[in-house]
Amino acid sequence: MTTRIAVTGAAGRMGKILIEAAVKSAGAQLTAAVVRPGSSLVGADAGELAGVGKQGVAIVDNLAEVVSEFDALIDFTSPRATLENAKLCAEHGKAMVIGTTGFSDEEKEALLAYQTQIPLCLAANYSTGVNLCFKLLETAARVMASESDIEIVEAHHRHKVDSPSGTALRMGEVIADTAGRNLKDVAVYGREGISEPRDRDTIGFATVRGGDVVGEHTVMFLAEGERVEITHKASSRLAFGNGAVRAASWLLTKESGLFDMQDVLSLR
Ligand code: NAD
Repeated sequence: MTTRIAVTGAAGRMGKILIEAAVKSAGAQLTAAVVRPGSSLVGADAGELAGVGKQGVAIVDNLAEVVSEFDALIDFTSPRATLENAKLCAEHGKAMVIGTTGFSDEEKEALLAYQTQIPLCLAANYSTGVNLCFKLLETAARVMASESDIEIVEAHHRHKVDSPSGTALRMGEVIADTAGRNLKDVAVYGREGISEPRDRDTIGFATVRGGDVVGEHTVMFLAEGERVEITHKASSRLAFGNGAVRAASWLLTKESGLFDMQDVLSLR
């Protein structure tokens, strides 16, 4: 069965990539593309916007208008827009792949409530490589957490608004869970001035923003006499786009529930 896909935030950096990934995927078909209300792109062809040729999909600025046209929505927008779109998807029984990051605790709770009505895939990072890294981090944390200091350094393009990245935070969670710690208690976000010597149980985060960096993450396990580094570098957003389209087709095998890319890639 071909998965009919809608993309919200279609004019965004990820939106255009998601259109390209859906168009190029054998098992999926782009059937709807949505932009901000009042956008001058309304009526334009989604394929032409994404540089993949005319697809016969006219861009709209209201998801409700095209709700009968798709099986799964892929949403990489902003927390507020994602929450509005999730409400509509829940009302109409549509699967949803969510790439948006930067939710507050309250927003995340509201979003996750829809898992009883529809299948949701929520992942801080849809690339295969990063999801493999989450597994490698579990092993590294199991072996090294008690005898090393753990630091996470990430870099992204100058337009990214949330920090640290959702991926860096997820990496911290994976390590903290494996080491029996609570990330909220042990995370240290940046350092300045004179402080106490480092507490071994903490997990440090450092953020770099600039240029056109697609996304880079390095986790360091710094022990006495040696250190292990696990690094992932994304060189194209298609790594996220292809993963999200794969997740959309996979979600259609589920009635409802909350999933992530570990489930989609059978990495559990
Ligand atoms: P972007 O700013 O280029 O695009 C966001 C799009 O969403 C824009 O076109 C904007 O018009 C639209 N939008 C935002 N708020 C809206 C609203 N209230 N109503 C309607 N449309 C709205 O950003 P981007 O780089 O494409 O990233 C989008 C999100 O995806 C960010 O949260 C980013 O962190 C996340 N992201 C996740 C992954 C992943 O693998 N999970 C990968 C890359 C980016």
